[in-house]
Amino acid sequence: MCGIIGIFNHSEAAKLATLGLFAEQHRGQESCGMAVNDGVTIKLRKKMGLVKEVFRPEKIKELKGKIAIGHVRYPTRGASSEYNSQPHIVETLSGPSYALTSNGDIINYNEIRSELEKEGVYFASTNDGELILKFIVYHVEKKGESIIDAIKIMMKTVKGAYSTVLSTKDSLFMFRDPYAFRPMSYGKTKENSVVVASESSALDILYMDWVKEVLPAEIIKVDDSGIQSNKNDPLQFRETDTEKHCIFEHIYFSRPDSFIFGENVFEVRKKIGSLLAENDPITPDVVVPVPDSANFIALGYARQKNIPFEFGLIRNHYVGRTFIKPEQTIRDESVYQKFNPLPNFFKGKIVSLVDDSIVRGTTLRKIVKLIRNSGAKEIHLRIGSPPVKHSCFYGIDTPTREELIANNKSTDEIRQYIGADSLSYLALDQLEKAVQEPQNFCYACFDGKYPVK
Ligand code: SF4
Repeated sequence: MCGIIGIFNHSEAAKLATLGLFAEQHRGQESCGMAVNDGVTIKLRKKMGLVKEVFRPEKIKELKGKIAIGHVRYPTRGASSEYNSQPHIVETLSGPSYALTSNGDIINYNEIRSELEKEGVYFASTNDGELILKFIVYHVEKKGESIIDAIKIMMKTVKGAYSTVLSTKDSLFMFRDPYAFRPMSYGKTKENSVVVASESSALDILYMDWVKEVLPAEIIKVDDSGIQSNKNDPLQFRETDTEKHCIFEHIYFSRPDSFIFGENVFEVRKKIGSLLAENDPITPDVVVPVPDSANFIALGYARQKNIPFEFGLIRNHYVGRTFIKPEQTIRDESVYQKFNPLPNFFKGKIVSLVDDSIVRGTTLRKIVKLIRNSGAKEIHLRIGSPPVKHSCFYGIDTPTREELIANNKSTDEIRQYIGADSLSYLALDQLEKAVQEPQNFCYACFDGKYPVK
């Protein structure tokens, strides 16, 4: 999973892009980068690390220009390394320069790459964003296509998920794959600055007036003459009748304060919680979320059951990849550094513990043990999604099928492994009721019905 940002026509484009990336840090913590265009050259800075580490104020000052694009990365395609981080750029000595950043993943990557390599195109990484950029630049520079036409050829040929921003010396292009797997919307100011971001919450913190979500297969060009939309019939590029948004963006990935796929994330999560509570025979003393992603699901569940909602677990937000490994005498597992129960809270209580999903089950197992050791009488685990049985190929780094616990174990075996008194999931037909247009979503990690292969 990754987050993207694009800024057009702002004197402090790099500063805005940094703030936007910071708002999207939850979408990727491994590396981040930015390409800033001053009308002559592109300055690129990308490094392993968090936005606040890579883009310190003195570094932002060096990135002068009115067009900026940026990216936070959680690796899917391509190893975890600086050369696979984004943006990617192509500079020509006398001609145009291009920078591109994308969120998603390409399924026919190997095939497209080897076709381009046969034509002499050089690749510096194994990242899908570079493939999209090189494909477009090849068709513009070598085949004489316009950028818009090159993107359309790309949409016909390259299969997968991409919410993408491309900048040149004087323009910004934004486009989304015909399935619209990943979110992307844009906003603007009265002074005609334009910002495009993965999530609307990044636009909010930049005081942008939200305009709209980019449509499936739509290509939007922004330049000094304004915003021009090139709408395309997505059916000419895709294998399904409807778009296929990632349902997991609503369940877990996106921020609750974002508006994506035509709905507020926090409202979808509360609806998931209330559906989860329907026909649930358990009457707990208290409903506790696994913070933070399950907060709104647990709230919806508690309201539906009319049972108190409490934050029984406190999450430390500062435990990260760079955390110093403690001595063996200190609790050395990151889950225990990350979650701590409120003192004397769980003693003697019947608890409904609500989480968004179970992938491997290892973290939940430790959390349940923590709550059990704090004196809970019964722990009933309630999950706001169906069992995850299939891997994702559209931009989410799920483990292989063999590592997915629901692929190998029955619900009761998972309950035993995790150590809960009961376990139930939200059924797929119930999950479909949580969104307004269920036919427009991908559920492949639950049912294995991949929209594009
Ligand atoms: Fe989202 Fe799952 Fe579909 Fe991947 S397979 S796009 S995670 S719903």
